[in-house]
Amino acid sequence: MCGIFGAVTPGTDAAGIAALGVFSLQHRGQESAGIAVSDGDQLMLYKDLGLIAQVLDERKLPSLRGPLAIAHCRYSTTGSTIWENAQPTFRMSRGKALAVGHNGNLVNTRELLARLEGGKTRLPATTDTELLTALLADDPSGDTVQALLNVLPHVKGAYSLAILDDKRVIGVRDPFGFRPLVLGRIEPHDDDPEGKRSGAWMISSESAAIDVAGGTVVRDIAPGEIVILEEGKEPVSIQFAPGNEKLCVFELIYFGRPDSYMLGRNLYESRRRMGVALAAESPVAADMVMPVPDTGAPAAAGYAEGSGLHYREGMVRNRYSGRTFIQPSQHMRQRGVTVKLSPLREVVAGKRLVVVDDSIVRGTTTRQIVALLRKAGATEVHLRISSPPIHHPCFYGIDTQIETELIASTHSVDEIRDFVGADSLSFLSIAGVLQALDLPYDKFCFACFDGNYPVPVPYDTARHKFVLEDPDGEPVSRGELRAAAPTEVPHA
Ligand code: SF4
Repeated sequence: MCGIFGAVTPGTDAAGIAALGVFSLQHRGQESAGIAVSDGDQLMLYKDLGLIAQVLDERKLPSLRGPLAIAHCRYSTTGSTIWENAQPTFRMSRGKALAVGHNGNLVNTRELLARLEGGKTRLPATTDTELLTALLADDPSGDTVQALLNVLPHVKGAYSLAILDDKRVIGVRDPFGFRPLVLGRIEPHDDDPEGKRSGAWMISSESAAIDVAGGTVVRDIAPGEIVILEEGKEPVSIQFAPGNEKLCVFELIYFGRPDSYMLGRNLYESRRRMGVALAAESPVAADMVMPVPDTGAPAAAGYAEGSGLHYREGMVRNRYSGRTFIQPSQHMRQRGVTVKLSPLREVVAGKRLVVVDDSIVRGTTTRQIVALLRKAGATEVHLRISSPPIHHPCFYGIDTQIETELIASTHSVDEIRDFVGADSLSFLSIAGVLQALDLPYDKFCFACFDGNYPVPVPYDTARHKFVLEDPDGEPVSRGELRAAAPTEVPHA
């Protein structure tokens, strides 16, 4: 995950638009936030742990001057949640500064560390992004774009990047395009009669942030493409590697905002269609359909439409709590569920419920939701999940790197049903997802569902979240990890 946003706004400071853009991407990462700006000569960076509105408040933005900016919100997949690991990262090279915001996860971190002066360089942070920034800054060319062309052929894994040097904002998407990245522009506004903001360009993890920042989407940045944005110039595109798109299908199932578009598909509509497909695949006799709020709502609406059952909201969500799955520790996740959701007794009591959610990762959240609904008087709880079971870890930017944390990797569907306490449980098939999206399988990464990893993952990568905090540690196999990992999910 992580959200990245960049803007070049000739004639005006870019910090406000970049902050607004990344604020619209808050759902992609809630651990830290940061912004880097350039006035064409000098870079300035501000970052901290916390939510975007806490970190980038109106007292700080006016001091961040210049028409070029990138901004970032973090969800950790490599390195701990500490200030040093907040992004954008920053590095000086031959008198010039460079800042980088990254969405994704690299899978050959050890190899890249070895390239950096034989692994002897001490990095101030412990993220793969810090490593990539150091490799770019150390490149002998002294030019950011040439450094990208020299370094990227050695980089493996998922990376959508927003990079800032003194004169340019640069967007980069890895050759598989695991994570989205969109190019947009700001048209002249009625409230901007002099047209100062016309000719402004933006890059963003999601199209919705471009809309919110007052721009229009131009196109997706292609897998394997570098886009260079400079004041007063049209964007320049360089295809640095052949593209073979494998967009993370989870972006469409769960992560992206419902008002965003990916591969030409609106995410709300995609999720509603997944619900229709789920109703066709897994019907059940019930009194009503309800979502697990908020992310299960579009698929629940589709399930109701497909099944002919009434749609009702059977739980309310505290709007001020973050997403449960995205919190970095199990302890915080467990606390998160109870403060986040409460059942509507009047709606669910005495009813046979179809409860629709977008995914089951560890099963602990779902178990608590089912218990809450039963306590509120539901007579039956039939769970319908608008994605297939997650059997395998993700190494491309989602923090599910240890298989034992995934309930479906060690339990059958019936065992999961028993663990969560539901009367029945069904998952949407991969064919159902594709039918809803009306796109071919080979456009997507489905690795966490079917184990078909587009970029091979070294066995020791599973411990790589903290690899730069223990770079000399011995690699471990998946088997050793399974044996060593704490089993938070009891076996049925
Ligand atoms: S493994 Fe799963 S979560 Fe990770 S990129 Fe592939 S589809 Fe997305």
